[in-house]
Amino acid sequence: MTMTYEAFKALGLAIDMTRGKPAPEQLDLSQALIDDAARVGHVSRDGIDCRNYGHLLGLPEARELGAQLLGLPASHVVAAGNSSLELMHDVLAFAMLHGMGQGEPWRRAGEVAFLCPVPGYDRHFAICEALGIRMIAVPMNDDGPDMERVEALVATDPAIKGIWCTPLYSNPTGTIYSPETVQRLARMPAAAADFRLFWDDAYRFHHLTDERCRSPDIVGACADAGHPDRAIVFASTSKVTIASGGVALLASSPRNIDWWQRCVSIRTIGPDKLNQLRHVHYLRDLPTLERLMEGHRAVLQPKFEALDATLRSLLGDVPGVSWTKPKGGYFVSLYTPDGYAKRTVELAAQAGIVLTPAGAAFPYRIDPRDRHLRLAPSCPNPAQIEQAALAIALSVRRALDEGARRVA
Ligand code: PLP
Repeated sequence: MTMTYEAFKALGLAIDMTRGKPAPEQLDLSQALIDDAARVGHVSRDGIDCRNYGHLLGLPEARELGAQLLGLPASHVVAAGNSSLELMHDVLAFAMLHGMGQGEPWRRAGEVAFLCPVPGYDRHFAICEALGIRMIAVPMNDDGPDMERVEALVATDPAIKGIWCTPLYSNPTGTIYSPETVQRLARMPAAAADFRLFWDDAYRFHHLTDERCRSPDIVGACADAGHPDRAIVFASTSKVTIASGGVALLASSPRNIDWWQRCVSIRTIGPDKLNQLRHVHYLRDLPTLERLMEGHRAVLQPKFEALDATLRSLLGDVPGVSWTKPKGGYFVSLYTPDGYAKRTVELAAQAGIVLTPAGAAFPYRIDPRDRHLRLAPSCPNPAQIEQAALAIALSVRRALDEGARRVA
């Protein structure tokens, strides 16, 4: 290795690799959304004045665009505000307060539990924690959650009301659920009649290779399996257009959409239809969106390549260290030998590289093996990525050396 940890630290760099934020060049790709706002105006296709209240489930053409993007009928799709995470929070909060389907409010059922494939998305887990929902970790395998475990738990424990799923390019492992996993999730018997799949399709369009993997139609699969209300799909254009100003989508069975409408009508008089109208004009259709995503890929792919190449050259020969090479999404998972993740994050921080806290990808922030790190290479530039990867590699090696000295 050409540089020591101490020498790197002395450089005094400061690089943030904590969150999967789009880089400024990615946000620039959709500048037209802002520049063309006046031209788009405020009147919808059907003459709706988008400046005014109403249309709780979204502007009709925004729902139609969402339907095309998600491959579902528009009647199954809601176009909402700027954040899908907000929709996930609200579905859970509404379920706790009011119940789902014919069931009683979840909060009255005594304990409510959710299955959390790990490593997973920290903000999913934060919602559960905030609402007092017990989290049960289940291992994430290469083809999705460990279905033996999931099926056994869901079939026998009526307190388990749902499972978090990010079916394509999962945060943070990049996992792609196999068709068999999807079928099993749709078909498995559940002890709770109102058991739900929280299907977070955040990375549906976010490919990093030519392969363009596809998200399965989970709403259709659940309907075919006799569980028409089981899946609730969430997606957004946060990492397609503007991260804080996109359009979020919720999709499910017509019965669940009615339920959502009843609940959300207490919370709002309607979404931001002006933003929805601008998105309809800008994104137009699936092929236009896919062309835009090629622009994102051109920015992101070299960063993922740089991270992988640097880690390979510096950590490729270290036993027990591995990392993912995702085909899409925003994250890389790096695994150290057991017991070294926290120390690696500490050492990286001392060298100026801020990483997501070790354990963040686990319920209650506890990685029982203390070995997982989530790396987010989207925002720093490629040169910074190489520096950060160098610092991470030096930190891993330093942590392992400390461990070896302790043993000796
Ligand atoms: N879901 C996953 C899996 C994510 O990784 C993210 C952001 O990183 C979000 C949801 C946030 O989505 P939104 O911006 O639509 O709230």
